[in-house]
Amino acid sequence: MFRKILIANRGEIALRVIRACREMGIASVAVHSTADSDAMHVRMADEAICIGPAPAAQSYLSVPAIISACEITGAEAIHPGYGFLSENANFVQIVEDHGLTFIGPSSEHIRMMGDKITAKETMKALGVPCVPGSDGGVPDLDEARRIGAEIGYPVIVKATAGGGGRGMKLARSAAEIDVAFQTARAEARAAFGNPDVYIEKYLQRPRHIEIQVFGDGRGGAVHLGERDCSLQRRHQKVLEEAPSPAIDAATRARIGGICADAVARIGYAGAGTIEFLYEDGEFYFIEMNTRLQVEHPVTEAVFGVDLVREQIRVAAGEPLSLDQADLQPLGHAIEARINAERLPSFAPCPGRVNTFHAPGGLGVRMDSALYSGYVIPPYYDSLIAKLIVHGRDRDEAIARLHRALGELIVDGVDSTVPLFRALLDEPDIRRGDYSIHWLERWLARSEAQEG
Ligand code: ADP
Repeated sequence: MFRKILIANRGEIALRVIRACREMGIASVAVHSTADSDAMHVRMADEAICIGPAPAAQSYLSVPAIISACEITGAEAIHPGYGFLSENANFVQIVEDHGLTFIGPSSEHIRMMGDKITAKETMKALGVPCVPGSDGGVPDLDEARRIGAEIGYPVIVKATAGGGGRGMKLARSAAEIDVAFQTARAEARAAFGNPDVYIEKYLQRPRHIEIQVFGDGRGGAVHLGERDCSLQRRHQKVLEEAPSPAIDAATRARIGGICADAVARIGYAGAGTIEFLYEDGEFYFIEMNTRLQVEHPVTEAVFGVDLVREQIRVAAGEPLSLDQADLQPLGHAIEARINAERLPSFAPCPGRVNTFHAPGGLGVRMDSALYSGYVIPPYYDSLIAKLIVHGRDRDEAIARLHRALGELIVDGVDSTVPLFRALLDEPDIRRGDYSIHWLERWLARSEAQEG
């Protein structure tokens, strides 16, 4: 097992990894920018090292700075968290070339899944159901028109290098395909330096259901059921739950089995998430994330498993301590992603947190790097806390989330807490009856009412 791990991240996810390290008796090294000198992850780690100025490109994304930090501190392995360098295949290659261990899959698997066309082709060949669409990239407008006519409108044009909900354009009819194709390409070139796009059937009212998988890197793998992440704004997740209100045990076993089998066959190592849209009882693969997800705690709650511990074990060459036969979800968990943002515009709202008080009690988990007096810097993601609740059933989890939100105090900056309070009062949310478009429509309605 490793003696020392460096965490190439910040905020709540850095704390999450530090906590796992401490429970495993592994020393932790925090890295930070000059803007994060007073951050909680710096205080909580066994050692901390400054790796550059505030902009992420010169600190948290600086490969030389992170490799040097490992050399200076004697860290043997790097946990990337999510975001930043977590899905950067070149970084993984450099880590390995320096004789260090990357806590995650191989650079080959990251590269395979990072290109969405290759990912889809690979998954299709492994028997995973995919969204109908173009076989591979769509090079020109004639081909885009042909495919639109063939699969039928509406269609969505997507960047093959896409991520974070960017580079996606909807064409409702043949009249819209030219503009959708050209703007998607332009956006993809600007955002990812790669204009390649592909086309998919646009699903009208699907749920976003993702399967947590874990590979041992030796041809063994398990799945830990699904998370339902259908509540989204601008293709970004807002609230997640496990299990999905729309999935029964037989469906879970079937799709989970297909996913575990797929990752086992490619010899995948570590945690991964296979994302699907789910409509009328059918699953359609959209992408695979080759890292720990923001929303992993809902899976940890219902399966009683420490996913970061498993990541570290597999990276150290130890066997998975998970057995598919023992993996049964218990109760229901919900996560609210709380951002420092001003409603209703969702404009980032960094600044000083005068008072912070975390909720507690039975079935409440708060993953946050906030403390009273902390100044949220303006340079990074606006996520400030993840509030995760676990109950015996969905109703109990909802009541608990309501109760916990009432105890939470974040004074000094605006946050999205009021959004969750309002959502939990909605009959559709209480019934679990919502698709990926529900939240956008509800926000548009609320704004119209207030305006
Ligand atoms: P990204 O990597 O940018 O997050 P994804 O492919 O994971 O992109 O898609 C993000 C979200 O966009 C999905 O959760 C869903 O809400 C929407 N989306 C993607 N593909 C489709 C599709 N074919 N039909 C309808 N909605 C889609």
